[in-house]
Amino acid sequence: MPKLDDVVQEIAHDMRQRHDRGEVATYIPELARVDVNSFGIAVIDADGHVAAAGDSDTPFSVQSITKVFTLTLALGMIGDRLWKRVGREPSGSPFNSIVQLENERGIPRNPFINAGAIAVTDVILSGHEPRVALGEILRFLRFLAEDPSIVIDEAVAASEQRTGFRNRALANYMKSFGVLENPVDYTLGVYFHHCAIAMSCRQLATAGRFLAHLGRNPATGHSVVQPERARRINAIMLTCGHYDGSGEFAYRVGLPGKSGVGGGILAIAPGKASIAVWSPGLDSAGNSHLGRIALEQLTRRMGWSIFG
Ligand code: GLN
Repeated sequence: MPKLDDVVQEIAHDMRQRHDRGEVATYIPELARVDVNSFGIAVIDADGHVAAAGDSDTPFSVQSITKVFTLTLALGMIGDRLWKRVGREPSGSPFNSIVQLENERGIPRNPFINAGAIAVTDVILSGHEPRVALGEILRFLRFLAEDPSIVIDEAVAASEQRTGFRNRALANYMKSFGVLENPVDYTLGVYFHHCAIAMSCRQLATAGRFLAHLGRNPATGHSVVQPERARRINAIMLTCGHYDGSGEFAYRVGLPGKSGVGGGILAIAPGKASIAVWSPGLDSAGNSHLGRIALEQLTRRMGWSIFG
C-alpha cells in the first residue's frame, strides 16, 4: 500500500503543474476574484492522521458543500418528514435549473440542487429568527470541524444577495406551491449566508469525519447521527453530490462527494478517510475540475473506491 502522505504530496505537486485548471465561477462576482492557481488537499484517515498539501489551510468559500451539513441538521430536526418537502433522486440537471421544478410541482428533486437546499434551509429556519438559524448552522460546522474560528465571508454573502436572481426565482416558485413556510427573503438570506461560510480543506475534512465513521467522530467519540443516517447521507452524496456530473464523479472517483462552486469537494471513503480538495477552476457542470482529477488519483492509488 503506498504511503498516504507521499501520495498526497505527489498529487499536489502534479496539480500545481497543470494548465487545464477550468474556469472560476463568475456569476457570484466575489468568487471571480479567487486565484485559479490555488490548490489544497487534506485527508484525515481513520486514526486521525492528517495528510495535507498545497493551500490546505487557506479558507475558501464552501458554497454548496454546506448542503451536506444543512441536510444533516434538517434531518435531525424533522427526520424523515423532510422527504415530503424534497426528493432524493439525482436530477440530471444543472444545480440552478428551474424546468424540473415546474414539472414536479415545486418539490425539488434532491437536497443538493439549489432548490432542494433552499427548501432544507427553510426547514431549519422555521420557528427561528434568521440570525438564530444561521448561528445554528455556523455552530454546527465549528463543532464538527473542532474549530471556533470558522466565519461567514460577508463579502461573498453580499455578492450573492445582489446577484442571486435565479435562486430568488426558484424560491418564489416553491413558495407558490407552499413548499417554503417562511418569507422568501428570510430563507434566501440564511441560504446565501451559509453558502458563504469560508473553510479550509483541513477544517472541511475534519467536519466530514462523522460521515466516514458511521455517524461518529472517532477522535472525540461524539455521535453526530445514527449509522443508518450517515449511510444515507453518503448515498445521496454519491448520487446527487455533483449535479449532472454525479455519474461521472462516481465513475471516475467512486466515492460519495459534494462539490461547491467555490471549487471545493468533500469526499468520503467510508471507514477509511474524510477528504477535502480545493481548486477554484470549474468544469462545465460547475464542479472543481482539478479537484475531481486529484480525487481520482487518490482513490486509484489508495484503492479507496467504494466499488472495490
Ligand atoms: N451559493 C451557490 C448558488 O446558490 C451554490 C451553488 C453551488 O455551489 N453549486 O448558486
